[in-house]
Amino acid sequence: MRTIGSFREFWYRSYFGWFGGFLLEEPPWLVLDGLMPAQFALVTGASRGIGRGIAVELARAGCRVAINYAGNAEAAAESLRLVQAAGGDGFTVQGDVAVAADRARLVAETAAKFGRIDLLVNNAGVGPHVRADLLEAGEESFDRLYAINLKGPYFLTQLVARQMLKQEPDAEGFRGRIVSISSISAYTASVNRGDYCVVKAGLSMMTKLFADRLAPDGINVYEIRPGVIATDMTGGVKEKYDKLILEQGITPIRRWGQPEDVGRAVRAIAEDRFPFSTGAVFDVDGGFHLHRL
Ligand code: NAP
Repeated sequence: MRTIGSFREFWYRSYFGWFGGFLLEEPPWLVLDGLMPAQFALVTGASRGIGRGIAVELARAGCRVAINYAGNAEAAAESLRLVQAAGGDGFTVQGDVAVAADRARLVAETAAKFGRIDLLVNNAGVGPHVRADLLEAGEESFDRLYAINLKGPYFLTQLVARQMLKQEPDAEGFRGRIVSISSISAYTASVNRGDYCVVKAGLSMMTKLFADRLAPDGINVYEIRPGVIATDMTGGVKEKYDKLILEQGITPIRRWGQPEDVGRAVRAIAEDRFPFSTGAVFDVDGGFHLHRL
């Protein structure tokens, strides 16, 4: 059984004394073991990589997850199997976050199946097909990255926030939480993928905007900035990063990040470990962000 924390704990103990402590234990006939504040999550791009790691980590806490994917149905089905094996459940749902009609369907389907959305994770994202110098890179790549990595999450967040506003707040006054997966590229210049850097920086501002707008409504908004994580996205530059990380120590913690590292951070947010934080940035990067001499 899990002990309930914070305001409720204070209230129970003040009114019921030692008996309040007993009441703080969730009675098994009321609450399924393992369930947590965020019980129903929508994770975009959960068929592979970091999104899959997030879905599995949420499942370890008993969460039910809508596993979104763009085109890889088989990988999404594998994510669902892993989620179920980890103690959670959910369903897979195709949808391109860059397409307005798909975003609307994603939210409608998740709300219909779960009854509510406690947590949105804006994780789906792509890198440029070709890493091109700032003076050569074309508009097509910029438009693609802008649509998937920034415009998609921006308007998906708007839709999910509207859904959350319709939901009853929980005992601590929370209606939901929103997390966006940005990158160290939000503040690190890589002149061979300026498009990626610019849209990730935009995602950081998006987090601040929605955090400010939604705080009075009981919705906290967070940004997670992963460093170099071992996924398909970084598969093509493995040798380069092996050298930088393992030989040159570009990160104080000398190893590749794993999807699970990001998943654990999202799980902590889902479990409401940061009730007095919104608009906060969590660096999950092996210490990459430190300025060192
Ligand atoms: P990945 O392994 O390439 O996986 C990308 C995921 O996004 C897949 O599930 C893919 O679905 C989905 N996706 C792609 N385009 C989509 C669209 N238009 N609509 C919906 N889903 C879409 O990438 P990753 O490394 O896990 O990256 C996940 C996020 O973390 C991205 O936002 C990325 O920018 C960010 N990030 C990654 C790293 C890193 O080192 N890997 C570092 C910092 C930040 P399908 O399987 O159907 O294609």
